[in-house]
Amino acid sequence: MTSKNINKPSSNGRFGKFGGKFVPETLMSSLKEIEEAFEKYSKDESFWEELTTLQNDFIGRPTPLYYAKNLSEKLNQRIWIKREDLAHTGAHKINNAIGQALLAKRIGKKRIIAETGAGQHGVATATACAMLNLECIVYMGEEDIKRQAPNIYRMEMLGAKVVPVTSGSRTLKDAVNEAIRDWVTNVENTYYIIGSAVGPHPYPYIVREFQSIIGIESRKQILDKTGSLPNYVLACVGGGSNAIGIFSGFIDDLDVSLIGIEASGEGIDTEKHAATLTKGTPGILHGSLSYVLQDSFGQIQEAHSISAGLDYPGVGPEHSNLKDIERAQYYSATDLKALEGFKLLSVEEGIIPALEPAHALGFLIDWSQEIPKDQSILFLLSGRGDKDMETVSKKMASL
Ligand SMILES: *Cc1c(COP(=O)(O)O)cnc(C)c1O
Repeated sequence: MTSKNINKPSSNGRFGKFGGKFVPETLMSSLKEIEEAFEKYSKDESFWEELTTLQNDFIGRPTPLYYAKNLSEKLNQRIWIKREDLAHTGAHKINNAIGQALLAKRIGKKRIIAETGAGQHGVATATACAMLNLECIVYMGEEDIKRQAPNIYRMEMLGAKVVPVTSGSRTLKDAVNEAIRDWVTNVENTYYIIGSAVGPHPYPYIVREFQSIIGIESRKQILDKTGSLPNYVLACVGGGSNAIGIFSGFIDDLDVSLIGIEASGEGIDTEKHAATLTKGTPGILHGSLSYVLQDSFGQIQEAHSISAGLDYPGVGPEHSNLKDIERAQYYSATDLKALEGFKLLSVEEGIIPALEPAHALGFLIDWSQEIPKDQSILFLLSGRGDKDMETVSKKMASL
């Protein structure tokens, strides 16, 4: 294992004051089991060997670091793109899904459950389960099922069972609730693969460790190619797993600025956004204390973003801590800015980005003109945009 464990959470599962385990008592022993198993296998050579082989030969790692020449000229900066869009299944989510599926297998749990919003984590989990011969059940909000039909076919083709969730707003947060309910009932034989760096301890830590491969590779690649570290690392933030994966590679390099971009939907001052770190307050969602979008009673508010992957009213606890200690800065981009970023990368570089990282590109368009010229910027392209073509063309037609 090459990870440096730089920012290990405290023994009670906190990053600063954030994190913890706010769960029903029945889950405490299972969380403990996962925590102990991860501790054990993170020191086990054969576990990392198996994972590394799958990362290389199944996911296609290391993913390339690409110098975006046209975009760099256009924005007067030096822009390097970390290509997670080229990972198997088209996004970074597979890094975590395979890591946790391997862990579940070692623990001896053969029944896997997962939640999914747009279906990306569902597809990644179904893929990992097909390859590792595990049963796979994916909870998905009925509203999202309607919006993301191709991903339902993909999951079913991979042998997973997709269970529609009809409670609440019938979207991601309700799917997580339902997955937790299943887990409480079937905790003896079931492992819950959570899709982002969120949830009760030890999930935010485990997910970060499995995504840290992005940071480890990028740091080495940019040093090999330029001889120096970047001035900035830029990533989009939904639950925060792709961002924390790349940030973790640079967190000890205090000269490197870490920048996370959230979705501000129809505008940061409207009701329709998903900018949890920018506009939220500390509260509890899905088993952990972090910034959340909530009303004065602590009821969770609905998030909105054009990208399903950023449409979540919470965020991983480590990001909340990085914000409070000012090691990372968080900004936001609207739906419209994301579309601008989407178009820009497609036209300039011949790469169609997912709508999620398109938010970071949208932010980059304006921000790159405010900072000094010729900065070295490492941008994490977390996924490819095929899944978003319909959303984008409909939205563009409506403008
Ligand atoms: C799910 C997803 C995200 C958001 O999730 P994080 O946990 O914040 O990384 C970002 N980009 C893509 C392509 C996704 O599929």
